[in-house]
Amino acid sequence: MSLNNLKLLEKFREVNNLEIIESQSEVKRLSKDFYNYSPILTKKLDGCIADIVVRPSDHIAVKKVVEICWKFSIPLTLRGAGTGNYGQAVPLFKGVVMQMSRFNKIENFDPDTGFVKVQSGCIMGVLNKKLERYGRELRLLPSTWKTATIGGFIAGGSGGIGSIRWGFLRDPGNLIGLEAVTINEKPELLKLDAEESEPLNHAYGTNGIITSLLLATDIKRRWYAVVIDCIEFEKTIDILKILTSAAINLKLGAILEDEIVDQMPTWFKSKTRSHKILIQTTLGGINTIELICKKFKVESSLLGEEEKLVNGISEVVWNHTTLHMRSRDKNWTYLQMLLPLNNELELINFLRKKWGKKVLWHIEAVSQQGSPRLAALPVLKWNGVEELNEIMDDCKKLGAFIFNPHVLTVEGGGLGVVDADQVKAKVKFDPKGLLNPGKLEGWAIKEQFNI
Ligand SMILES: Cc1cc2nc3c(=O)[nH]c(=O)nc-3n(C[C@H](O)[C@H](O)[C@H](O)COP(=O)(O)OP(=O)(O)OC[C@H]3O[C@@H](n4cnc5c(N)ncnc54)[C@H](O)[C@@H]3O)c2cc1C
Repeated sequence: MSLNNLKLLEKFREVNNLEIIESQSEVKRLSKDFYNYSPILTKKLDGCIADIVVRPSDHIAVKKVVEICWKFSIPLTLRGAGTGNYGQAVPLFKGVVMQMSRFNKIENFDPDTGFVKVQSGCIMGVLNKKLERYGRELRLLPSTWKTATIGGFIAGGSGGIGSIRWGFLRDPGNLIGLEAVTINEKPELLKLDAEESEPLNHAYGTNGIITSLLLATDIKRRWYAVVIDCIEFEKTIDILKILTSAAINLKLGAILEDEIVDQMPTWFKSKTRSHKILIQTTLGGINTIELICKKFKVESSLLGEEEKLVNGISEVVWNHTTLHMRSRDKNWTYLQMLLPLNNELELINFLRKKWGKKVLWHIEAVSQQGSPRLAALPVLKWNGVEELNEIMDDCKKLGAFIFNPHVLTVEGGGLGVVDADQVKAKVKFDPKGLLNPGKLEGWAIKEQFNI
């Protein structure tokens, strides 16, 4: 049921501690995220706008919203800061968008374990700053950490700065537990441990309203930004791989090919045209990096402590690389993939030969199931769906694993298969299927899982 009914609106207005946003321009803005990085998603999602947006300040207000949505079968889509790239927070079937930004408190920090309990709407930049007082920092940050919420990152993100050491959000040990509200006639606040939380981790808010999270943190370190200049592209891969297996602390390791570097903001460009390796390490790692660079006959420059730089290298990595490319030319889009282990160059060289400057290389070092691996977020010049599919097919044939950023569903953007546990959690916690409908493919075939 859509909500263009005044009596229904009145019911939301009666709820205490609930801000209601009805202004058409605001509702439109808060129904969108950064899906416009994909021309395919832009076409599908531009017309999807909620009826209203609500912002609850406490659990009672959340439950009241759920009760109204349940009673009148109104779709309910959750939103953090709306920085997702796949239309995760876009309401496909109108209804209510509930923004969790007022759930922003840090509830507890345990000095023995380093676990922090934080409400889902807390901005990651704010959380990270507050963790400093305990000598801790977040293990993983998307490059949008200044504006994105921790709940949105867990429900819609995957990894980022820190993935070189800590892998991805769904790796065991990163998310320790969570609290979530169910979508029933009588909504409940669930307190889930690490195992029970797994189905809600990266489920696009389709199977529970996360109100708080228990996360592992790392010791706060001073990270230093180092840039290595390479004239030969092939060397960048060898150097990055050696660095990721060296005995030094690393927070970030990325490669930008020269054509990309040319289109980054002016503060980042250097006088010499070269491919660049970007590293964040501790002070103790700098000598080792210099030594490795000497062996490869390349130059490294220490830019300084990342946090103290006016523009740090965190601003040009992960999907911020794509952001800067798109600020020059909106025809750039991108792909995400794990490159084939030990065969990265075969794939890259094949694509460079076949596609030339239509595909430019941006590589990120990650840890995959505990082992160093290279991921890539190449930027592509948009030239239609057929060409995109051909590029993806080329990558797959040469052993890459694609995480397609041009699809709407949890499964499509992930491993491509239905996760039965995510579907089971939805059947249990959202039996009417009201949460973010259309985003969990497994819901349509739930009968197959003997639930
Ligand atoms: C320039 C750019 C760079 C980016 N870099 C990265 C990166 O490095 N790594 C990465 O993983 N992502 C990246 N992203 C994607 C995105 O910024 C992150 O995933 C971010 O953490 C999302 O947080 P958010 O608060 O904006 O969530 P939103 O976009 O608001 O929501 C994301 C999903 O979570 C759901 N959700 C939100 N809150 C809740 C809740 N309380 N309970 C249940 N579900 C909820 C929403 O329904 C939606 O499905 C990038 C995006 C851009 C535009």
